[in-house]
Amino acid sequence: MDLVRLLDDPDGYARTLEGAMARAEAAGHDPVDAVGGLALAAFVRLFGPGSPAIATACKPGCSWCCRMMVTATAPEVLTLAAAIAAMPEERAAAVRARIAEAVPAVAGLDADARRRLARPCPLLEADGRCGAYAARPLACRGRTPGVTIMST
Ligand code: SF4
Repeated sequence: MDLVRLLDDPDGYARTLEGAMARAEAAGHDPVDAVGGLALAAFVRLFGPGSPAIATACKPGCSWCCRMMVTATAPEVLTLAAAIAAMPEERAAAVRARIAEAVPAVAGLDADARRRLARPCPLLEADGRCGAYAARPLACRGRTPGVTIMST
């Protein structure tokens, strides 16, 4: 079964999922596990290392995704705050200043407006790298297919 080609055919993919669920249920397995397994296989085929389906330009120093609206949960924000607090004071002060500038600049903007604004994340350093890479939110970790999804 060519999962990548199936993703270009939503009806075919839906039929494949339904078939997998029915077979799993008939065999006494959880049909949700069957769907999850298929989805994971398709995901890895599409975005996994060496995927032939989508060539990405992701590499250290590319900050394209750091100019989109990035979401973070409260624990992730607290993790970032701790990472900033652990930075050398001059660097931490610069990040805090960028955060203070960013807050009023994006306040009240919806997701589309945020994307159009393309404002760099306050944690983005001048070299195009994340200033808090080890503490970056999950949303950021998922933005580098084939590079970080499978290994971090
Ligand atoms: S936290 Fe780091 S990886 Fe995430 S958007 Fe900001 S600079 Fe980019």
